[in-house]
Amino acid sequence: MKRRLVLLGAPGSGKGTQAEMITRHFGIPVTSPGAILRREKELGTPLGLETAETTQHGGLVPDKIIVELIEDWLRLHGGHGFVFDGFPRTMPQAESLQHILQRHRTPLDFAIWLDVSEQTIGDRISSRLQCQSCGFTTSATSAVFAERPICPYCDGPLVRRMDDDTVVLRHRLEEFNTKTQPLADFYEKLGTLRRIDGNRDREAIFAEVSRLIEQTA
Ligand code: AMP
Repeated sequence: MKRRLVLLGAPGSGKGTQAEMITRHFGIPVTSPGAILRREKELGTPLGLETAETTQHGGLVPDKIIVELIEDWLRLHGGHGFVFDGFPRTMPQAESLQHILQRHRTPLDFAIWLDVSEQTIGDRISSRLQCQSCGFTTSATSAVFAERPICPYCDGPLVRRMDDDTVVLRHRLEEFNTKTQPLADFYEKLGTLRRIDGNRDREAIFAEVSRLIEQTA
């Protein structure tokens, strides 16, 4: 199935989880600048080193770097549609994406906005475990993973993310409120915004996301 979607929402809103479920279920390719940057950092590449300080403190990496990452990815994989998890996050990024898509005459199908309360964000971030190899995300409150923190898909180690700490989270939320929130208006005006209650469990949210994907011609 070929769809072009972006997933937007606060840290802990479930973007990564939904992106992974979409790609497993519908086969739409997914990418996440956050995941790419974590991998680059682990590998010690120039990009990883250049952006490590910013990501570690929960700031947003310069737009130019992120847009180049997305353009490179689209050149390689864009022919099969996409799900962007955590892109765009600023108005200049959203405008760049519009220009890229207009140039290729491939409009966005919709922008999914996962609405979550502060309580949900705090609960999810404080218990989040993520696979270091494939990015699968789960919760340390799930007994099976608390006892055996191994990824069920690739056997990679499930670990806490370095930026999932209270002080860093506060900064990530400030960045979200000041730089990402305006994107809701942007996509609303384009008629592509779809708001979904992200406070529910992953299956309930995915059922709604799936309906949207299936209904799109
Ligand atoms: P995420 O995995 O989406 O939570 O992203 C982790 C970190 O990567 C963010 O806190 C930012 O430092 C950086 N990052 C990810 N996506 C973007 C983006 N679209 N623009 C700027 N920085 C980003």
